Amino acid sequence: MVVIGGGFVGRCCAWLLSRSGHRVTLVAAAPPEGALDGSGAALGLLMADVYRRRSGRGWRLRQHSLALLAHWQGLLAAAGHPVALRRGLLLLAQDAEDWQRQQALASASAKPGPCLELRTAPELQRLEPVLPPGAPGGLWSARDGQLDPIVWGAALEADGTAHGLLLEREPAAAIAPTPGGRGGWRVQLAGGTALGADSVVVAAGLGSGPLLASLGIELALEPVLGQALELELAATTPELWPGSVVWQGINLVPRPFRRLWIGATLEPGESANPDALTNLAHLQGKAPDWLRQARTLRHWQGLRVRPVGQPAPVLIEPRPGLLVSTGHYRNGILLAPASAAWVAGRIEALNGA
Ligand SMILES: Cc1cc2nc3c(=O)[nH]c(=O)nc-3n(C[C@H](O)[C@H](O)[C@H](O)COP(=O)(O)OP(=O)(O)OC[C@H]3O[C@@H](n4cnc5c(N)ncnc54)[C@H](O)[C@@H]3O)c2cc1C
Repeated sequence: MVVIGGGFVGRCCAWLLSRSGHRVTLVAAAPPEGALDGSGAALGLLMADVYRRRSGRGWRLRQHSLALLAHWQGLLAAAGHPVALRRGLLLLAQDAEDWQRQQALASASAKPGPCLELRTAPELQRLEPVLPPGAPGGLWSARDGQLDPIVWGAALEADGTAHGLLLEREPAAAIAPTPGGRGGWRVQLAGGTALGADSVVVAAGLGSGPLLASLGIELALEPVLGQALELELAATTPELWPGSVVWQGINLVPRPFRRLWIGATLEPGESANPDALTNLAHLQGKAPDWLRQARTLRHWQGLRVRPVGQPAPVLIEPRPGLLVSTGHYRNGILLAPASAAWVAGRIEALNGA
């Protein structure tokens, strides 16, 4: 089978299918020079237990992914590819109404269930370095957290390769049914090579729409740009908090060596607005002194993929053996494992049919 797209979603699919004993080719074209795809730009926050709902598809996918990530981490480590899952996430309430919602969520999540703990304003004020101001309270989630998407992506690719995964670095240009109506698919690469496959997984982010259009299938997706920063903190800044912090929708991710990732802007379209970056860096004018004194080491940007007229992510099988896993928009790193499990389940069902 062929998986198109070497972002986190495509890699999770290709890895899981290879690990399940399938012969898989991953068509993993690099993004254009100087650009990052969503996966290369992502901060890797995992927000499953703090999700606002306790039922429905979004909740189930998030919970499934959180369980799979722990399982996959074990498999990767045993195969010689250790990868970190940095547990712990503090979601600061945006206002009084949000704080009430958090309190309701924490009491609804009493055992058995996700382990969420409330933090009152005085408890938050005691944390060092000082948090950005204004939160009436917060929710501490011990199981949510963060992973490094680039490190995990490399480990999945390396372990997949050890399990027979083949890689093609050229973009896919078109998909067509195998001539003669015998079932199966042909994936045409830009350089002219054609790959035959019983199933094709389209996980090409924004490239998914044009590929499906080559089959007459319409899928509307739109880009939403995100900018992010890596900062180096002054030597006098206290050791950062034990987990990632979310303030007014902005993620603060402690990194090794006194570094901090901060992101990400939400900018519809493909062009970056310098004012949005300034606003991010200064936390809308509310950055504490220690953050203002930090030095910017790196600035990057990437594109998220938002489905138009339907919820994210798009997990569909528009033709037998043609599986689409795209439009993950804001939580694609978290949702990728559960999406891969959906793909693997559909393929098992097709093989059993
Ligand atoms: C700044 C930023 C921060 C983010 N932070 C988080 C976060 O903290 N947590 C979280 O869960 N999510 C986060 N996201 C969202 C997350 O990055 C995306 O949801 C996720 O990366 C989507 O993965 P993907 O593999 O579907 O798409 P992509 O990462 O866009 O990958 C698609 C790949 O397909 C390739 N491709 C396209 N067309 C073709 C073709 N024709 N042939 C072959 N290959 C093709 C592209 O080059 C690309 O490599 C963030 C996004 C951004 C931009």
